[in-house]
Amino acid sequence: MPGTIVWFRQDLRLADNPALRAALDRDGPIIPVYIHAPDEEDRWSPGGASQWWLHHSLTALAGSLSDISSRLIVRRGPSFETLRELAEAVSADAIVWNRRYEPAAIERDKRIKSALCDSGLAVTSHNAALLFEPWNVATKQGDPYKVFTPFWKATQTLDEPPRPRDAPAPGSLQPPHVWPDSLDIGTLELLPKIDWAGGLRDTWTPGEKGAAQQLQWFLDEAMRNYKDQRDHPSMLGTSRLSPHLHHGEIGPRQIWHATRDRLKAGANELIRQNAWSYLRQIGWREFAHHLLYHFPKTPEQALYDKYRTFPWRTSRSELEAWQRGRTGYPIVDAGMRQLWRTGWMHNRVRMIVGSFLVKDLLLPWQDGAAWFWDTLVDADLASNTLGWQWIAGCGADAAPYFRVFNPVLQSEKFDPKGAYLRQYLPELAALPDKWIHQPWRAPEDALQAAGVKLGEHYPGPIVDHQQARDRALAALEETKNG
Ligand code: FAD
Repeated sequence: MPGTIVWFRQDLRLADNPALRAALDRDGPIIPVYIHAPDEEDRWSPGGASQWWLHHSLTALAGSLSDISSRLIVRRGPSFETLRELAEAVSADAIVWNRRYEPAAIERDKRIKSALCDSGLAVTSHNAALLFEPWNVATKQGDPYKVFTPFWKATQTLDEPPRPRDAPAPGSLQPPHVWPDSLDIGTLELLPKIDWAGGLRDTWTPGEKGAAQQLQWFLDEAMRNYKDQRDHPSMLGTSRLSPHLHHGEIGPRQIWHATRDRLKAGANELIRQNAWSYLRQIGWREFAHHLLYHFPKTPEQALYDKYRTFPWRTSRSELEAWQRGRTGYPIVDAGMRQLWRTGWMHNRVRMIVGSFLVKDLLLPWQDGAAWFWDTLVDADLASNTLGWQWIAGCGADAAPYFRVFNPVLQSEKFDPKGAYLRQYLPELAALPDKWIHQPWRAPEDALQAAGVKLGEHYPGPIVDHQQARDRALAALEETKNG
C-alpha cells in the first residue's frame, strides 16, 4: 500500500497533530520527515536561541517516534526536491503538513503544493497552530481586524475550537518497507559552536513532554493567581509555554480545552476570571497571526504609513548597551540579562525594555525586533512583530506613541522589593529596596555600604529619562507635521 509523508515543521508533536491524524486516517505506511531549509525563510530563519531549541525539540520528537517503532527522517532542503525524491524512494502517494502563517512560508508552501499535485501526489494541509484561521475572522465589512477586543469578541461568536481528536498521541505508526536515509540531527549544526547555552539548558525542557508538564504545572499551580501575578517578573506567575507553542510541541486547542475543562469542574468565580484572563492572552497570539497573515509586510514596516518616516536615531554604542544590559536603568538591564541568560523575558519587562529602546533611545523598533529574534527561544514572527509595533505605537491596537513608560516607576510598581533586579543584577543586590530601582539617586554612603561604585561596577544612566521623553515627544510632533 502506498505511504504518506508527514512533513513536520513548527508542529513538533504527536498528540493533537491534524496532519499526522490525516496520515493515520489513510492507512498504510507513514514516513515522518523534517527538512532543514533556513534559506527558504526569507530573512527570518531561526535565530541562535531558537536553533538551540529546535535541536532539542527535534531530538525529543525523534525519541517519541522511536518509542512507537517509527523514525524521524531528517534531511536538508530544498524542500520541494527533497519531498519529491523521498516520495519516490518510499513509494508515497500523499504528503501532508500543518500550515504555517509567515509570508515566506505561505509562498513556499503554495508553490510546493501546486508542483507536488502536478506530479500526481495527493497533498493536504491542516491547522495545528491556531484556534481560528485568520481568514475566518472578519469585520462586518469583510475586513481584517486591527483592534484586539472586537477581534476577540468576534472569535467568541464562532464555533468553539474543536477538541483535539487524537490526543493522546498514536500508539504506533506503520513503517515503510525500507526506511530512507536520514541525517543525524547534530549535522544540522543548530547548537552553538561556543557553548553559551548553559542558562537555556538550566531553564527549559524542549519537546512535547516538557510542554505537557509545563501546562499541567500552570493549571495546577499558577493559573489561580494569573491575573494578579502575571505582571510581576519575580514571580512564576505565567505559563512559560511560549517557546513550546512556537515550535508546536503543544497546540492552542490543547491549552484551550484543558483550561476550559477546569472551568467545567465546578470552578469558583476566582478560577473563572483567571482562566479567562489566560485564554485572552492566547487570544493575543491568535490576533498576532491574524495581523501577520493580512499585513505580511509588518515584520519590516510600520502598519501605518505615517510612522514610516519617523526620525529614528542610529547609535551603535547605545544599541549595544541596551543589548548587553548596560543602560544604567536596572529594570531594563535585568530584563536584557534575563533574555541573554535564559532565552526568555517576562512580558511586562519586554514592554519596558522595548519602550526604553524606541522612546528613551529613539532607536528603531526593527533593531529591537531583530535582537529579540536572535535571542528569544520563543521568537515568533507574528507575536514579535505585534509586540514591537505595539511598543513603538505604529501597529494595530498599539500603545499610543506619546505614552512613554517610566522605567523607574514601572520597576517600583512591578518589582517593589527588587527581587527580580537582584536575581539578574548581583552587583546591585546589596542596595536597599529604596535605591535599587535608581542607583544614581542613592546617597554616596548607601552606595558604599552596598559595595557599588557607579561607572565601575554598574553604569550610570545612559540617558536622562525626562529629557529622553521630551525628545521622543518632539520626534512624534515632527512626524505628525509631516
Ligand atoms: P502567558 O502569560 O502564560 O501567556 C500564554 C500564551 O499566550 C503565551 O505563551 C503566548 O503564546 C501568548 N501570549 C501572551 N501574551 C502575548 C502577547 N502580548 N502577544 C502574543 N501572544 C501572547 N511572544 C512570543 O511568543 N514570541 C515573541 O517573539 C514575542 N515577542 C514579543 C516582543 C515584545 C516587544 C513584546 C512586548 C511581547 C512579545 N511576545 C512574544 C509576547 C509575550 O511577551 C510572550 O508571549 C509571553 O511573555 C510568553 O510568556 P508566557 O508563555 O509565560 O505567557
